[in-house]
Amino acid sequence: MSHIPAYATQAANQPLAPFSVNRGAPGAHDVAIDILFCGICHSDLHQARNEWGNTVYPCVPGHEIVGKVTAVGSGAGKFKVGDTVAVGCMVGSCGHCEACAAGEENYCENGFVGTYNGTLPDGSRTFGGYSTAIVVNEDFVLRVPHKDHLAAVAPLVCAGITTYSPLRHWGAGPGKKVGIVGLGGLGHMGIKLAHAMGAHTVLFTHSPRKADDGKRLGADEVVVSSDPAQMAQHAGSFDFILDTVSAPHDLNAYLVLLKRDSTMCLVGAPPASTPHPPLRVPNLYGKRRALAGSLIGGIRETQEMLDFCAAHGIVSDIETIAMQDINAAYERMLKGDVKYRFVIDMQTLKDAAKAA
Ligand SMILES: [Zn+2]
Ligand SMILES: [Zn+2]
Repeated sequence: MSHIPAYATQAANQPLAPFSVNRGAPGAHDVAIDILFCGICHSDLHQARNEWGNTVYPCVPGHEIVGKVTAVGSGAGKFKVGDTVAVGCMVGSCGHCEACAAGEENYCENGFVGTYNGTLPDGSRTFGGYSTAIVVNEDFVLRVPHKDHLAAVAPLVCAGITTYSPLRHWGAGPGKKVGIVGLGGLGHMGIKLAHAMGAHTVLFTHSPRKADDGKRLGADEVVVSSDPAQMAQHAGSFDFILDTVSAPHDLNAYLVLLKRDSTMCLVGAPPASTPHPPLRVPNLYGKRRALAGSLIGGIRETQEMLDFCAAHGIVSDIETIAMQDINAAYERMLKGDVKYRFVIDMQTLKDAAKAA
């Protein structure tokens, strides 16, 4: 492998445009992957536009990758040529801290290596899945057990694991009442997963027009969060609430819906300039409630999530786009105009490169 087609941004105010990435031959423990599909995550947009202030340009986003193995390193034994695999948000971690030893590389105390905008131990920069191929250490490659709908599998390795991990950690399952706040890329996965885990699943949404879709995806009940009377009916009744909304909103309105000793977990964060309204602490100590956060999941748990999804026939609800339409897709994503995840068909980039 050498220079392969990709899409990159060159500065915060520049659109994504054709670019070429130098991918080395796989090292001893690496796997080379022909990328079939790459999902579009909100993080891609934040990073491309330097909204977190740490982007190094050029930037090739993309961390919801599904593809086929084309080569394996001499010391790599987990995969063989032709296997269907996925790569999520991480391509490396220190491997020796307490978190890594526990298989929770996502909480690596030395910082995991992001699939894009990251730096590998040899000092090289990482470029993500908006490209036709990638080379990744086999320890960060996942087996895809799904036989078809591979485009719709791609978002599982970010949106899927981001919701699966906290649902598992806080025990979503039969006999539990679980709330999912927000019906976007994350929320729609949260509904599907909580339902499949056997929990009584309740969607909170501010728009009543999303109720039918929430039920179709697996919600047992839909609560319109802007209606205080509907909210009050659920006071003190939830075993767990997963809040997927990044926009600033009042967390107190949800905390009072938790039972004693129950937890609400945040997986979205508002911009630093517009935080959530202040927390009313008595809402916590009054019933020994907890407010928590969660960040993606480790490799072992991500594999568990893919296996769970395949066993339950779960994929993401997606709209497939051509690589060339990426900038328009970002604008639509900002307006919430997608059900519920865009996925790039990488054949469109391969065809364009062939024609050039
Ligand atoms: Zn993501
Ligand atoms: Zn570590």
